[in-house]
Amino acid sequence: MHIALLPSVVAFLARDHSNFIDGAAHTSASTRRIGVVDPGTGETVAQLRDAQAEDVNLAVDSARTAFKGAWAQVTPYQRGVLLNRLADLIEANGEELAQLETLSSGKSINLSRHIEVGQSAVFLRYFAGWATKIGGQTMTPSFPSTAGEQYSAYTLREPVGVVAAIVPWNFSLMIGVWKLGAALTTGCTVVLKPSEYTPLSLLRLAELAIEAGIPPGVVNVVNGRGQVGQQLIEHEAVRKVSFTGSVPTGIAVGKAAMAADLTRVTLELGGKNAAALMADANIDDAVARFVQSAYVHQGQVCAAPERLFVHRSIVEQVTQKMAAMLSQMVIGSPLDERAQLGPLSNKPHFDKILGFFDRALQSNQVVCGARAVDRAGYYVEPTLIIANGKDDPLLHEETFGPVVCVLAFDDEAELLTLMNDSPFGLTASIWTNDLSKALRLIPRIEAGTVWVNMHTFVDPSVPFGGMKASGMGREFGSAFIDGYTELKSVILRY
Ligand code: NAD
Repeated sequence: MHIALLPSVVAFLARDHSNFIDGAAHTSASTRRIGVVDPGTGETVAQLRDAQAEDVNLAVDSARTAFKGAWAQVTPYQRGVLLNRLADLIEANGEELAQLETLSSGKSINLSRHIEVGQSAVFLRYFAGWATKIGGQTMTPSFPSTAGEQYSAYTLREPVGVVAAIVPWNFSLMIGVWKLGAALTTGCTVVLKPSEYTPLSLLRLAELAIEAGIPPGVVNVVNGRGQVGQQLIEHEAVRKVSFTGSVPTGIAVGKAAMAADLTRVTLELGGKNAAALMADANIDDAVARFVQSAYVHQGQVCAAPERLFVHRSIVEQVTQKMAAMLSQMVIGSPLDERAQLGPLSNKPHFDKILGFFDRALQSNQVVCGARAVDRAGYYVEPTLIIANGKDDPLLHEETFGPVVCVLAFDDEAELLTLMNDSPFGLTASIWTNDLSKALRLIPRIEAGTVWVNMHTFVDPSVPFGGMKASGMGREFGSAFIDGYTELKSVILRY
């Protein structure tokens, strides 16, 4: 069923959007407008002002003042209480947030409800739990004692300060919440920079943060294109950049952060994730789960598999089963609860995927898909391509779309070479009923996360991040704490 928009969503869309600074909506003096386009129809649904340098300065000043002032007065326990309250408000306002997210990203309304909203609350509660559990260590130094003096040492975990959180368009609410949760639970304050394509849900989230009782200035949002992110990174009061996005932008962000007085930086970047389907796997189960993992949100998930290596003995069976499943997927409006596949998130990305299809149709065996859908908006068919050998460029470039490239392998040594033959190393999976085979392969796979008989699902307790060109640093688990705190050592002589 095509759902009706809530009156609150219609009213929110009609606002003159720009930033959220020091606890309130802030209207930029900028006259440069960015249209927020509904990818399901291609129509503009809201307008946004592209922030100017003064806006960025105001937002960072507000975050710096709150870091040294109001937020520093809040105890760790109370920080946890406030984050839990924000999680409750995310759920209470879930339908509004989900509709805003779907309207700007083209994400199925079901995914917006269960992942963007549902998982945001889950992650935030996880981060809330850390607030009271972050601490240092005590040590006894081995300095020689000449006159009976003794030594003791301990470490303190101190929040780094103002965090610039730069967010992509594919899961803007949830990725924004990951960064906000990590920053606030460690005692940092944050300036969020959403993608220019999906600015709405984080603006609403900032309002909910105030409603939850989080002091003004702790959560700020500045909106606009890449130069706004660049200005944030260059600001002398920003002490950490947490970036999620593409590899080329991530490399530019990393360089800019180093140039800005060695600002701390975490980079969560793209991938060309490999999945290995072994001959002993339960094929029906593996294919069904693989299709779900690879084509969710039209494949616009950084962790999703794009390269599928299948044992030669089952490759035909697997591609036929996959093609049958893909051809039955219901393509429709993201506001239609029955649709399984919606549009790509924006026009430049749609054009990029169509270019990829052209190349595939000229040089590859296309098993199914590789066509745009004839309707308004940015819809394409789910696509399965057979790679032309291990050097096929389509097997090496991130598409970030509903496209999987298949190649057959003969033995485990060849499989490992194929899986690791990539500049990226974000995620991988092994599909097998032989656990000892999986355990032998796991240490030799160059990826930050390896799944067995599943792919793409992330959990707050499990660290997530990339090896090689897929990034630097880890989110979630206890691993995130390193990125948001400085370790101070204290040595005492007495
Ligand atoms: P992008 O790199 O184009 O943009 C990401 C963000 O950076 C946006 O907010 C953008 O405005 C901003 N930006 C652009 N240029 C900038 C600059 N010079 N300085 C500072 N900020 C700048 O990425 P995208 O197209 O929004 O997202 C898709 C990409 O993100 C894919 O490559 C995907 O794999 C990756 N991604 C990675 C993860 C992960 O956790 N590893 C998660 C989601 C998406």
